[in-house]
Order: sequence, then C-alpha cells, then structure tokens
Amino acid sequence: MSQNGAGTLIKTKPRCERNRVLVTGGAGFVGSHLCDYLVARGDHVICLDNFFTGSKENIAHLIGKPNFEVIRHDVVEPILLEVDQIFHCACPASPIHYKYNPIKTAKTSFLGTMNMLGLAKRCKARFLITSTSEVYGDPLEHPQRETYWGNVNPIGERSCYDEGKRVAETLTMDYYREHNLQVRIVRIFNTYGPRMALDDGRVVSNFVSQALTNKPITVYGDGQQTRSFQYVSDLVKGLVTVMDGPEIGPFNIGNPGEFTMLELANLVKEVVNPKAVIEYRENTADDPKCRKPDITKVKTTLGWEPVVPLREGLERMVDDFKKRLGVE
Ligand code: NAD
Ligand code: UDP
Repeated sequence: MSQNGAGTLIKTKPRCERNRVLVTGGAGFVGSHLCDYLVARGDHVICLDNFFTGSKENIAHLIGKPNFEVIRHDVVEPILLEVDQIFHCACPASPIHYKYNPIKTAKTSFLGTMNMLGLAKRCKARFLITSTSEVYGDPLEHPQRETYWGNVNPIGERSCYDEGKRVAETLTMDYYREHNLQVRIVRIFNTYGPRMALDDGRVVSNFVSQALTNKPITVYGDGQQTRSFQYVSDLVKGLVTVMDGPEIGPFNIGNPGEFTMLELANLVKEVVNPKAVIEYRENTADDPKCRKPDITKVKTTLGWEPVVPLREGLERMVDDFKKRLGVE
C-alpha cells in the first residue's frame, strides 16, 4: 500500500509479482504519460532519461511512489538492468530539437536502439520501439499503410531523425530474426497534449502557446499541408495494447482525422482565442505535404482506435499550457 498525492491509499502488487518496465525517454512528453499509466497499473517502472528535451517537472508527481524510479542515463551508452519490458522512447521528436545536434540524434537512434535491444536480449525482455510516421517521408501513398516503404530524403535536414528511425526499425527486426527477441514496432503519428515542451516548435504547442499569449499564430508555407493529430492518452493506450498484444507490427498508431495547418490554426483560434491573428512564415525544408494514418491493421488485429477528437483534445491541454505560461 502507498499514498498518492491526494492522500488516497493505492494497492500496489508485491514486488515479485510486478511487471518490471523500462521506459527510456520517460521524462519526455509521451514517456511521462506512459509512466503515469504503467505506475497506475501497478507495474514497477524505471524511467531512464538524459533530460535533453525531457524535464523533471513531467515526472515530479511520480517521485516517491514505491513502484517508480528514475535513472539519469544516455542510451548511447550501454546499461545493465533487470526488466521484463522495454518501451524505447528516448529520442528528441520535434524538428527543432532533433536538428539541433543531428549527429547526436542519429547516434541516439542507432546506438541507443542497439544498446536497448542488447539489454532486452540479455534480460529476455519484450522490446517496443516508438518509431514514427516520418519513416514514410513525404509520402506518395495517401493515407499511409504499414506496407508503404516511404519516400525519405536520405541526405536532407530531417534525415537524422527519419533515417535514424528507419535504421532503428531495421535493427529491431534483425534482433527478432537473429536472436528471436520479442519485439514490437509502433509508428506514431503527430501527437499532442499536456506536457509538450513549450519551446519544442511543434505545430500544436506553437499554436496553443501563441493564441494564449496573444502572439500571431505562425502558419508555415501556404498552410495547405496536412497532418493528423492524436491526443496523448490515445497513444498511450495504443502503445500498451501493442506491447501486450501478440503481433510484432509495425502498427500505425494515430488519429486518421486529417487537417490542413490553416484549419488547425482556425480551430485553435476558436477554442483558445478568437482574437488571435494568423501570420504566414516560410516553411522548412523537406516538409511532408500530407500525412494521415491508415489504422485498419491495428483496429482489426488488436481492436485499438483513438477516441479523443481534436477539438476536445485541444480543450484538455489548455489548462496545462496556461499554468506553465503563467497566463489566466
Ligand atoms: P520528447 O522530446 O518530449 O521526449 C524524448 C525523451 O527522450 C526526452 O525526455 C529526452 O530527454 C529523452 N532523450 C533524448 N535523447 C536521449 C538519449 N540519448 N538518452 C536518454 N534519453 C534521451 O519527445 P516525445 O514526443 O515524447 O517522443 C517520444 C518518442 O516518440 C520519440 O522516440 C519520438 O521519436 C516518438 N514519436 C513521437 C511523436 C510525437 O508526435 N510526439 C511522433 C512520432 C514518434
Ligand atoms: N508548422 C506551422 N507552424 C508552426 C510549426 C509548424 O505551420 O509554428 C507546420 C510545419 O511546417 C508542418 C506541420 O506544421 O507542416 C507539422 O509540424 P511539426 O513540427 O509539428 O511536426 P512534423 O513536421 O514532424 O509532422
């Protein structure tokens, strides 16, 4: 038994019965929500992070719980632990963060994934890689199915991330084929929600912060490019469903609702601040023109589908952003 912040008693399983789960990148946006879910489920959670883009604030509420611990470590270096499952989320995900030090991003994706696969092999743990819709590049198939091999520029500014994740998937499959490791591959589509870093430059966090602080909403290019946005709680359920399910994947995990960036800007105006103005800015290199997941595979094999529509998800993240931005 232990007490949570609200003073309520929580039943925790005896140590020997707990699933020991490693969440790399556990102090990041997605990783911290995943840690919340796993800790509440009664697993023994080890959050491993180098705090490059993650923060202690994201996991502060978990510190002190008997089934949660944190390790400051960089996945580029090997580590010895005893675990049953590994959710490998460690990697900067926003374009400005992964372009900041592209060689480190590529090392994190390649060496980091290889080290975590090595750990999984030694422990006979099940390993899940959080890959990305970016493996489809600027897609020539729309919507994207898992069978599509993608259209990625191997020498562009986004390649450290896109190709990094592609090689991470390759390594994952090679550990499965060569060492019979239990592996799972998830291709995550654009995800948003509370705890996104305020400075990460991703479109939803940018637009919500800008609308809340009465700054112009910055639409890049002509705003006609599309993305499909999933709320973070849907993603967490998807990750756990795939990890605990019987199939390797790859599985697309995303919300098929597709929006142009201009539509998103107008929706943020409606939900957050109708007075906000929209300003156009030059777009970045190699920006994919469209992106929308075909989720038939995960829906039919595992029964997962997202439930939070974009408008509702935006409403849910506003309070957290207001608090962190210090606005009413
Ligand atoms: P994030 O930047 O918030 O979290 C990444 C975490 O990994 C951070 O806590 C960071 O400090 C940590 N990290 C980075 N490099 C590390 C290293 N070398 N060693 C140890 N820790 C390291 O990003 P996120 O949105 O939470 O993304 C989590 C994972 O999901 C990433 O692997 C990302 O590629 C994948 N993903 C996310 C999205 C999305 O829309 N959020 C979309 C596709 C894929
Ligand atoms: N974008 C935008 N304004 C911003 C930030 C991003 O219009 O302030 C656009 C960006 O050009 C891209 C889309 O939003 O077309 C999604 O960008 P993000 O960085 O969130 O994710 P990714 O490109 O990795 O899908």
